[in-house]
Order: sequence, then C-alpha cells, then structure tokens
Amino acid sequence: MSADLQFTVEPTTQPASDDQRAAILANPGFGQYFSDHMAIATWTKENGWHDAKITAFGPLELSPATAVFHYAQTIFEGMKAYRHPDDSIQMFRPEANAARFAKSARRLALPELPEEAFLDSLRKLVELDRAWVPGGGETSLYLRPFMFGSDPFLGVRPSAQVTYCVITSPAGSYFPGGVKPVRIWLSEDYTRAAPGGTGAAKTGGNYASSLLAQAEAIEQGCDQVAFLDAVEKKWVEELGGMNLYFVLDDNSVVTPELSGTILEGVTRDSILKLVTDLGYHVTERKISIDEWRDGAASGKVREVFACGTAAVITPVASLKWHSGEVQVADGNGGPVTAAVRNALLDVQYGRAADPHGWMTKI
Ligand code: PMP
Repeated sequence: MSADLQFTVEPTTQPASDDQRAAILANPGFGQYFSDHMAIATWTKENGWHDAKITAFGPLELSPATAVFHYAQTIFEGMKAYRHPDDSIQMFRPEANAARFAKSARRLALPELPEEAFLDSLRKLVELDRAWVPGGGETSLYLRPFMFGSDPFLGVRPSAQVTYCVITSPAGSYFPGGVKPVRIWLSEDYTRAAPGGTGAAKTGGNYASSLLAQAEAIEQGCDQVAFLDAVEKKWVEELGGMNLYFVLDDNSVVTPELSGTILEGVTRDSILKLVTDLGYHVTERKISIDEWRDGAASGKVREVFACGTAAVITPVASLKWHSGEVQVADGNGGPVTAAVRNALLDVQYGRAADPHGWMTKI
C-alpha cells in the first residue's frame, strides 16, 4: 500500500477569512503563522503507510509516552514555494528534499516515505493553500515536512508507529532592509557532529545540541555559530543552519567537502552549479580554520558567504573567537557573493531561465 500512497484532500470548513489572511501576508515574519491545511499520514509496522490526507491545520493529540518526546526519533525538511510573475506557484528542487528526507529517515531508523508520496503531499497541500503564498519582494511559502516516532511506548527501539506531517508558513523577506552581512562566532567548546553520528541527517537533536553554542554566539555579539570537525577541531564544517563558501584571491571558489558530518544543503549543491555557470572554478575540499583566519587577515580569502533555504545567501562580515576577531575584506560581502545570490534568486523567483530544471510548477 505504501508504494502508491496518495493523499486525499479534505478541505477545512473554517479557513481564515480573506481579510485575516491578507493581514498576515502583509507582514508574515518567519514561522509564526500557518496556512489553513496540513498534510498527515501514519505508518505502522503492521500496515505500512496509510491514512494519508490533506486536512485542516490543527493540534495533534499525543500521549505523554509518545516515543519522540523521549528519544528524539524525528527528522524534518525545509523548503520553499514561490509566486512567479505569471502567478504560478513553483517549488525549488523538491525532489532533492525528498531524497534527503529519505536519507535522514534511514539514519534515524524511521520508515522511508516513498519520494512520490512526499511530492504528492506537497503538491496537493500547496495547491489547496495557494492563496497563502505571498507575492512581491523576496517572500515565499516555507514548507516544513517532518516525521516522528508516535508510538506511545517507552521502550528504546525504533517506533512501531510513525507520523508524517507537512505544515506551511508564509515567510517575509529575510532582509527587508537589504542584505546584512553576518558576524560568525567560532565554537571552540562545542562540536555539532562526530564521525558515525547524525550530522548529515536533518534531525531535531542536531539543532537541540547547537542551541547553547548559538546562544554563546549571540552573547558575543555575533549572529551565527560556526562548527569545526569533532576529531581534530581543525576543519571548518558549517554553521548551525547553513553551509559555507569561500572566495579566494585567485577568484576560485571553495566549500567544505561533504564529510559525512555536515548537512548536504540543497542551496550548497545548487551553488556548485551556479558558480560554474558564472565562469568560476569551484572545488569541494577540506578548509582549515587557519586557512580562513589567516586568509582573511592576509587578503587571500576575499569573500565568505553562508547559504541555506531560509536566508539563501548571506555575506559573512567577520569571524570571532575567544582570543580574537578577523574581518573578511571590508566586511560588506563582495562581487561573487552578490552575483551568485542574484543568479539563484532570479531562478527561484522566475526572473530568469531555469537551465537546470530546478523549478516544479504546482
Ligand atoms: N546546514 C544545516 C545544519 C542546516 O540546518 C541547513 C538548513 N537546512 C543547511 C545547512 C542548508 O541546507 P539547505 O540549503 O538545504 O537549506
């Protein structure tokens, strides 16, 4: 039954009024408001995936014994749908998120949702809630698929019951006042992921364990935290929720190679192709923290930028650690960062051709 799982559509009888929705879309912020519907499906050991539907957004009733509350068997995705100039609604590389979701599921001993069912849930949900996709500026509808062990059982084992759910949330421009470069705090006391651990999976525990380091970053007057590898504490991995790119003084572009401990960002992967299209030479390799620190000081590292679904591409102004701080060039980003950012946004917002076939029309 799982192979051809189809989501049935049961529209809510109590949608938000046009006025309520318009008030939210005028100033959506991020992650605070939710569209009228959600997708939900259940998996049990006996029956596989079943009861898949698009239904009214609302609270879930869960036993206090529910597995996920105790053992964190949970995964999620983050992606966006955009309103194009022709008023069509388009998702960016949803099949890449479907594949990563399946990979995360395998690592967390959760059942795989067939990729076609993942895409079916998104298409039907966004189609039904298309009025919730904001238009204008760099706005979007953020899509949050997630899955968790929902068995009300305290034994430590892969949950015998699992819930899949998708909720959507209108998102305003990340930088309403123009792109703002970020200051990065280097976490020397905490690491994010060790070899053999869950760093390459999009699982809640990775984020829970990054929060203290992120709080330290804020205390230090920084915006985001950068993590090093857990073994040598030498190699740059990624930020708490974004991957990193470096532009060197010979105009080459480098990004940390996939180590098994960093998240394989869809934005990271897209940028590998875009910078090549733009005529730059790009390499995935190990980058040491000294290469970053010394390179920023000497001018060998000209630009650093962070990338991810939420903020797309954000210039890095400086790197701070316990005993020092170094600014990257003039701290305002640079031409390669700006060119890649525009190229990616142009595809996502339908302002340019889509040579890689990244957009999926709803
Ligand atoms: N690294 C981490 C730890 C993340 O949470 C994210 C956001 N999903 C990224 C990188 C960027 O991934 P993507 O480009 O797919 O949003």
